[in-house]
Amino acid sequence: MRIAMIGTGYVGLVSGACFSDFGHEVVCVDKDQGKIDALHRGVMPIFEPGLDALVASNVKAGRLSFTSSLAEGVKGADAVFIAVGTPSRRGDGHADLSYVHAAAEEVARELDKDAVLVTKSTVPVGTGDEVERIVRDAAPDRRITVASNPEFLREGAAIGDFKHPDRVVCGVEDDHAREVLAAIYRPLSLNQSSPVLFTRRRTAELIKYAANAFLATKITFINEIADLCEATGADVQEVSRGIGLDNRIGRKFLHAGPGYGGSCFPKDTLALLQTAEQFDTPLRIVQAVVQVNDHRKRAMGRKVAKAMGDARGKTVAVLGLTFKPNTDDMRDAPSIAIIQHLQDCGASIRACDPEGVEQARKMLTNVDYMDDPYAAAEGADAVVIVTEWDAYRALDLRRIAKATANPLLVDLRNVYSHGDAKAAGLDYIAIGKGEAVA
Ligand code: NAD
Repeated sequence: MRIAMIGTGYVGLVSGACFSDFGHEVVCVDKDQGKIDALHRGVMPIFEPGLDALVASNVKAGRLSFTSSLAEGVKGADAVFIAVGTPSRRGDGHADLSYVHAAAEEVARELDKDAVLVTKSTVPVGTGDEVERIVRDAAPDRRITVASNPEFLREGAAIGDFKHPDRVVCGVEDDHAREVLAAIYRPLSLNQSSPVLFTRRRTAELIKYAANAFLATKITFINEIADLCEATGADVQEVSRGIGLDNRIGRKFLHAGPGYGGSCFPKDTLALLQTAEQFDTPLRIVQAVVQVNDHRKRAMGRKVAKAMGDARGKTVAVLGLTFKPNTDDMRDAPSIAIIQHLQDCGASIRACDPEGVEQARKMLTNVDYMDDPYAAAEGADAVVIVTEWDAYRALDLRRIAKATANPLLVDLRNVYSHGDAKAAGLDYIAIGKGEAVA
């Protein structure tokens, strides 16, 4: 199969590299010339474990190439995937579909043969119908069938997720699209644990939003239970285990923390609410999830400030900035709201992150970036773990205690225990650990 991937970001680059690794011939297209130049030099535009090696081996094998020319990229393609961004539209939270629409129109104009146009970007239900209208208007004489193939990969584990997904969802309206997508994903059907689920297009589009809203709900649920644990003297980690061992509930996404962030959950929950409003079908649970999560990020800033008594004139060392480990993605990261709140309270911020500093510089002002956690802790009045990178999971807590001006560790990811911290001479505040168990 010859595949063109329009948009070479987290999803487009990983999907393109994995498709080529399956044996397909893939051209990744991006209008950002800098990204394409970097890829030609073998430099990855994002941090994703294992991606550089995967890209290098497939480029070497002649199955994967990069271009900024969409016309060149789609030449001879059997399938064209759109993997451009669908950010929140400023003001109303609706998914901004302008990049998807523009890409669809350009693809239709440039295709030199009939092809299947597949939307991989996360798009509201009904977008496929609109894309179909756009391509029909742009290329009335060409047979371009439109399909939906939402992506479920997680940043930080993207290659594993793409190659061994829990499922692949393909939304199709005709047999040709079904056959092409079945052929593209055939390497996965050898793997019995990765079913390829075919649905109608609108259903596939909605599956993606329903999945993200459900996961966001699970996280938000356990975060509220964590607050109740703090108030009642219970331990949220034990509650999570106690409920998660029930197969009907499942253990994943039950880690209490500073609230969900990232490039998907915040914007996708907002977009789903817009769809619900548009179709006059309120989703009250998702509404509550969005509100509770927004509140939580600010509440975490207040939690740190309260632990210090008065944050004015104090220095806070923040360990971890990205919305989760193993990515450099800072989009909607809880660290942003936490740091901004502490700055509003008059605190100075020192921060470190193994991969996120370059992105963080674009989003935060007046932060001193340090190379490692010990340098960040030097003279600090509080050390706060915001993202649970491996590099922060086995800190020498005695060294941290010694470096600080005031030995206070606020652990928003429950990496350590009260006993570990106390033995190192640190005051310790975690998430969802009531007084009785602290
Ligand atoms: P991204 O911002 O990292 O990448 C999008 C890329 O598309 C950019 O490099 C941009 O330059 C390029 N682009 C935009 N318009 C273009 C055009 N007309 N021609 C060529 N290139 C163009 O975005 P992302 O994080 O990869 O997300 C893409 C989509 O996938 C979104 O809808 C997102 O919701 C969805 N998604 C993301 C993830 C994730 O973990 N990031 C997971 C699942 C689904």
